[in-house]
Amino acid sequence: MRIGVLAVQGAFIEHEQQLASIANRFDEQIECIEIRQKTDLEDLDGIILPGGESTVQGKLLKNLELIDTLQAMILRGIPTLATCAGLILLAKTLENDSTKHLATLPVTVQRNAYGRQLGSFSVSSNVGEIESFPLIFIRAPYITEVSADTRILTVVDQHIVGVEYKNQIGLAFHPEMTNDTRIHEYFLQKVKDLANM
Ligand code: GLN
Repeated sequence: MRIGVLAVQGAFIEHEQQLASIANRFDEQIECIEIRQKTDLEDLDGIILPGGESTVQGKLLKNLELIDTLQAMILRGIPTLATCAGLILLAKTLENDSTKHLATLPVTVQRNAYGRQLGSFSVSSNVGEIESFPLIFIRAPYITEVSADTRILTVVDQHIVGVEYKNQIGLAFHPEMTNDTRIHEYFLQKVKDLANM
Protein backbone atom coordinates (compact mmCIF):
# COMPACT_ATOMS: atom_id res chain seq x y z
CA MET A 1 0.00 0.00 0.00
CA ARG A 2 1.08 3.58 -0.64
CA ILE A 3 0.80 6.01 2.26
CA GLY A 4 1.38 9.71 1.67
CA VAL A 5 2.77 11.70 4.58
CA LEU A 6 2.42 15.47 4.27
CA ALA A 7 6.04 16.63 4.42
CA VAL A 8 5.96 20.40 4.06
CA GLN A 9 6.66 21.13 7.74
CA GLY A 10 6.56 19.45 11.14
CA ALA A 11 6.99 15.95 12.54
CA PHE A 12 6.56 13.85 9.41
CA ILE A 13 9.72 11.74 9.85
CA GLU A 14 8.33 10.25 13.07
CA HIS A 15 5.24 9.01 11.23
CA GLU A 16 7.44 7.46 8.55
CA GLN A 17 9.42 5.69 11.28
CA GLN A 18 6.21 4.25 12.74
CA LEU A 19 5.23 2.91 9.31
CA ALA A 20 8.73 1.46 8.79
CA SER A 21 8.58 -0.25 12.17
CA ILE A 22 5.20 -1.82 11.35
CA ALA A 23 6.41 -2.88 7.89
CA ASN A 24 9.39 -4.60 9.51
CA ARG A 25 7.57 -6.37 12.28
CA PHE A 26 4.59 -7.56 10.28
CA ASP A 27 6.42 -8.06 7.01
CA GLU A 28 4.08 -5.63 5.23
CA GLN A 29 4.70 -3.77 1.99
CA ILE A 30 4.27 -0.14 2.94
CA GLU A 31 5.52 2.46 0.51
CA CYS A 32 5.88 5.86 2.11
CA ILE A 33 5.49 8.94 -0.12
CA GLU A 34 6.49 12.37 1.20
CA ILE A 35 3.83 14.79 -0.06
CA ARG A 36 5.43 18.03 -1.25
CA GLN A 37 3.80 18.60 -4.63
CA LYS A 38 0.64 17.68 -6.46
CA THR A 39 2.08 14.65 -8.25
CA ASP A 40 2.88 13.09 -4.86
CA LEU A 41 -0.87 12.71 -4.34
CA GLU A 42 -1.28 10.24 -7.19
CA ASP A 43 -2.30 6.66 -6.40
CA LEU A 44 -2.23 6.96 -2.63
CA ASP A 45 -4.14 4.51 -0.40
CA GLY A 46 -3.91 6.60 2.77
CA ILE A 47 -2.83 10.02 4.02
CA ILE A 48 -1.07 11.16 7.20
CA LEU A 49 -1.14 14.81 8.30
CA PRO A 50 1.54 15.35 10.96
CA GLY A 51 1.92 17.76 13.86
CA GLY A 52 3.82 21.00 13.51
CA GLU A 53 2.52 24.51 13.00
CA SER A 54 -0.90 24.54 11.40
CA THR A 55 -0.74 28.16 10.19
CA VAL A 56 2.49 27.44 8.30
CA GLN A 57 1.23 24.09 6.97
CA GLY A 58 -2.06 25.67 5.88
CA LYS A 59 -0.27 28.41 3.94
CA LEU A 60 2.05 25.92 2.29
CA LEU A 61 -0.91 23.72 1.26
CA LYS A 62 -2.34 26.73 -0.56
CA ASN A 63 0.92 27.99 -2.05
CA LEU A 64 1.87 24.54 -3.30
CA GLU A 65 -1.68 24.13 -4.69
CA LEU A 66 -2.22 20.92 -2.78
CA ILE A 67 -5.25 21.97 -0.82
CA ASP A 68 -8.08 21.36 -3.31
CA THR A 69 -6.89 17.94 -4.45
CA LEU A 70 -6.18 16.84 -0.88
CA GLN A 71 -9.59 18.04 0.28
CA ALA A 72 -11.34 16.22 -2.58
CA MET A 73 -9.46 12.99 -1.81
CA ILE A 74 -10.42 13.14 1.87
CA LEU A 75 -14.06 13.91 1.05
CA ARG A 76 -14.08 10.96 -1.32
CA GLY A 77 -13.03 8.78 1.61
CA ILE A 78 -9.29 8.09 1.52
CA PRO A 79 -8.29 6.97 5.06
CA THR A 80 -6.61 9.91 6.79
CA LEU A 81 -4.72 10.02 10.09
CA ALA A 82 -4.18 13.56 11.41
CA THR A 83 -2.24 14.47 14.53
CA CYS A 84 -2.23 17.81 16.34
CA ALA A 85 -1.62 20.49 13.66
CA GLY A 86 -3.05 17.92 11.22
CA LEU A 87 -6.26 17.84 13.27
CA ILE A 88 -6.41 21.65 13.02
CA LEU A 89 -6.06 21.40 9.23
CA LEU A 90 -8.94 18.92 9.06
CA ALA A 91 -11.34 20.77 11.38
CA LYS A 92 -14.41 22.40 9.84
CA THR A 93 -14.32 25.16 12.44
CA LEU A 94 -11.66 26.74 14.63
CA GLU A 95 -12.66 28.40 17.88
CA ASN A 96 -12.38 32.24 17.69
CA ASP A 97 -10.78 32.02 14.28
CA SER A 98 -12.37 32.25 10.84
CA THR A 99 -9.47 30.44 9.15
CA LYS A 100 -10.40 27.24 7.34
CA HIS A 101 -7.93 24.80 5.87
CA LEU A 102 -9.17 21.42 4.60
CA ALA A 103 -12.39 21.65 6.64
CA THR A 104 -13.42 18.03 6.06
CA LEU A 105 -13.91 16.93 9.69
CA PRO A 106 -17.17 18.15 11.29
CA VAL A 107 -15.69 19.29 14.61
CA THR A 108 -14.69 22.55 16.26
CA VAL A 109 -11.10 22.76 17.47
CA GLN A 110 -9.49 25.15 19.91
CA ARG A 111 -5.82 25.74 19.08
CA ASN A 112 -3.17 25.87 21.83
CA ALA A 113 -6.00 24.97 24.15
CA TYR A 114 -3.89 24.17 27.20
CA GLY A 115 -2.27 27.60 27.36
CA ARG A 116 1.40 28.41 27.46
CA GLN A 117 2.22 27.12 30.95
CA LEU A 118 1.15 23.60 30.13
CA GLY A 119 3.05 23.36 26.86
CA SER A 120 3.67 19.62 26.93
CA PHE A 121 2.45 16.73 29.04
CA SER A 122 1.65 13.06 28.77
CA VAL A 123 -1.04 10.76 30.16
CA SER A 124 -2.25 7.26 29.49
CA SER A 125 -5.75 6.71 28.15
CA ASN A 126 -7.86 4.39 26.04
CA VAL A 127 -8.24 5.40 22.40
CA GLY A 128 -11.35 3.70 21.06
CA GLU A 129 -10.69 -0.02 21.56
CA ILE A 130 -6.96 0.53 22.11
CA GLU A 131 -6.26 0.33 25.83
CA SER A 132 -3.77 2.40 27.84
CA PHE A 133 -2.15 4.30 25.02
CA PRO A 134 0.56 6.85 25.96
CA LEU A 135 -0.78 10.26 24.89
CA ILE A 136 1.83 12.98 24.34
CA PHE A 137 0.55 16.55 24.06
CA ILE A 138 2.69 19.39 22.69
CA ARG A 139 1.04 22.84 22.57
CA ALA A 140 -1.99 20.79 21.76
CA PRO A 141 -5.45 21.71 20.61
CA TYR A 142 -8.59 20.02 21.88
CA ILE A 143 -12.01 19.52 20.37
CA THR A 144 -14.86 21.60 21.74
CA GLU A 145 -17.72 20.35 19.57
CA VAL A 146 -18.42 17.34 17.39
CA SER A 147 -21.19 16.50 14.93
CA ALA A 148 -23.68 13.81 16.00
CA ASP A 149 -22.09 11.28 13.64
CA THR A 150 -18.53 11.82 14.82
CA ARG A 151 -17.22 9.06 17.09
CA ILE A 152 -15.34 10.20 20.17
CA LEU A 153 -12.22 8.05 20.69
CA THR A 154 -10.56 9.73 23.67
CA VAL A 155 -11.47 12.16 26.41
CA VAL A 156 -8.84 13.51 28.83
CA ASP A 157 -9.87 15.80 31.70
CA GLN A 158 -13.29 16.25 30.10
CA HIS A 159 -11.78 17.42 26.84
CA ILE A 160 -12.20 15.47 23.60
CA VAL A 161 -8.75 14.77 22.17
CA GLY A 162 -9.43 12.01 19.65
CA VAL A 163 -12.23 11.48 17.12
CA GLU A 164 -13.10 9.39 14.11
CA TYR A 165 -15.49 10.44 11.35
CA LYS A 166 -15.94 8.13 8.38
CA ASN A 167 -12.33 7.49 7.27
CA GLN A 168 -10.78 10.44 9.10
CA ILE A 169 -9.02 9.98 12.43
CA GLY A 170 -8.19 13.26 14.20
CA LEU A 171 -5.95 13.26 17.29
CA ALA A 172 -4.77 16.17 19.44
CA PHE A 173 -1.80 14.11 20.66
CA HIS A 174 1.25 12.51 19.03
CA PRO A 175 1.20 8.70 18.65
CA GLU A 176 4.18 9.03 16.29
CA MET A 177 6.34 10.19 19.20
CA THR A 178 5.91 6.96 21.14
CA ASN A 179 7.17 3.51 20.27
CA ASP A 180 3.63 2.19 20.49
CA THR A 181 2.43 1.58 16.94
CA ARG A 182 -1.15 0.46 17.69
CA ILE A 183 -2.81 3.64 16.41
CA HIS A 184 -0.87 3.50 13.15
CA GLU A 185 -1.80 -0.18 12.86
CA TYR A 186 -5.45 0.74 13.35
CA PHE A 187 -5.17 3.35 10.60
CA LEU A 188 -3.45 0.89 8.24
CA GLN A 189 -6.22 -1.63 8.89
CA LYS A 190 -8.72 0.95 7.62
CA VAL A 191 -6.58 1.40 4.50
CA LYS A 192 -6.50 -2.38 3.96
CA ASP A 193 -10.22 -2.82 4.57
CA LEU A 194 -11.00 -0.19 1.98
CA ALA A 195 -8.58 -1.54 -0.60
CA ASN A 196 -9.66 -5.14 0.18
CA MET A 197 -6.02 -6.10 0.71
N1 GLN B 1 -0.06 24.55 18.32
C1 GLN B 1 0.17 24.01 17.02
C2 GLN B 1 -0.73 24.67 15.98
O1 GLN B 1 -1.61 25.38 16.31
C3 GLN B 1 -0.04 22.53 16.99
C4 GLN B 1 0.98 21.87 17.86
C5 GLN B 1 1.48 20.55 17.36
O2 GLN B 1 1.22 20.12 16.23
N2 GLN B 1 2.28 19.92 18.18
O3 GLN B 1 -0.52 24.44 14.82
